[in-house]
Amino acid sequence: MTQIERREFLTTLSLAGAATLFSGNALIAATAPKKDKLGIALVGLGYYSTDLLAPALQMTEKCYLAGIVTGTPAKAEAWKAKYKIPDKNIYNYQNFDQIANNPDIDVVYVVLPPSMHREFVVRAAKAGKHVFCEKPMAPSVADCEAMIAACKNNKVKLAIGYRCQHDPNIQAVMKVAKEQKFGKVKMINSAAGYFDGRTDHWKQKKALGGGVMGDMGVYALQGARLATGEEPISVIAQASTTRPDIYKEVEETMMFMLDFPSGARAACQTSFGINMNYLQVNYEKGWLKLEPQSGYLGNKGSMSDGTIINFPIKNQQAKQLDEDCLALMNQTDLMAPGEEGLRDIRVVEAIYKSVRSGKSVTI
Ligand code: NAD
Repeated sequence: MTQIERREFLTTLSLAGAATLFSGNALIAATAPKKDKLGIALVGLGYYSTDLLAPALQMTEKCYLAGIVTGTPAKAEAWKAKYKIPDKNIYNYQNFDQIANNPDIDVVYVVLPPSMHREFVVRAAKAGKHVFCEKPMAPSVADCEAMIAACKNNKVKLAIGYRCQHDPNIQAVMKVAKEQKFGKVKMINSAAGYFDGRTDHWKQKKALGGGVMGDMGVYALQGARLATGEEPISVIAQASTTRPDIYKEVEETMMFMLDFPSGARAACQTSFGINMNYLQVNYEKGWLKLEPQSGYLGNKGSMSDGTIINFPIKNQQAKQLDEDCLALMNQTDLMAPGEEGLRDIRVVEAIYKSVRSGKSVTI
């Protein structure tokens, strides 16, 4: 062992020892030496981690896939071989808290069904790790608030995986709102849905945080919120299903109408039964259209003055991961912190309340 290796080994050991003694605080995050690439551990190795996040982590410059947390030993073996992940960086849901002692892991990225987000975000925060959490942030406002509080109390940062906010095409829509290029927003049409042929998945189970509203609905909602730059003040919503044998516990389709403080209105729809993905904004003096508005492979559209919205983007997830990690390294604001996830879930809760009452609900 060289002198430098020995010093690093000792530092690691002493940090690990201290973290064991004081487990439940942010000791490692606070004292770790500066790195040029942060180590990310993915929690939950399902579709999104496998098909999108792990490949994106091969393209990132500010972070890399350092570890995994899985309940399935066979997945651990496969990922270990494919991505050369050392045994010491592989955890299961039971021993996950020991990640507190692992200086290789700077960020824990929670990619589980929504009902599990709160537990794993809180455990990651208590382990002193920064946390990225997939959308929808959680099934309830109370969960979101607990997650934000846990991160704050443990002095770690929390980002929500709103990849589209990192997309220059969506940022172009936000800029039109901010600069009032076409005057005030009058009417929005915002849709996000796909046909999901699965019949027994967490997206169809209430206890796991299923239902289309949290899943694709947040994209339709984000479209309206980002296009106005405002928070909705009231909503009226209706849930429906064309496949009641599959969507027994949760809605297959949700339609909701939002009112904004400026007087803008939005008609939004989301579905697990219909392929649709677009945003249309009508302003006082013009319009903007995007289709798709929340695709992985580049959102694109145009404006009434002939402006084309079609910024190239190599990989949305890689851009999101790099920008969020850079914000952690530079201690600057995250683009979509926990509070942004909470804003959506406040509206989602009001939408379900409106469905139950059949009336408009003040948010
Ligand atoms: P998935 O069903 O493919 O994967 C879920 C993972 O959680 C699996 O590895 C599964 O083994 C694990 N898991 C642990 N306990 C479970 C339980 N009790 N029931 C079911 N699964 C359990 O789901 P996914 O599509 O990868 O979605 C995961 C998260 O990522 C969700 O929050 C989802 O909304 C989000 N997501 C985001 C995007 C995006 O574009 N940002 C895209 C897809 C999914």
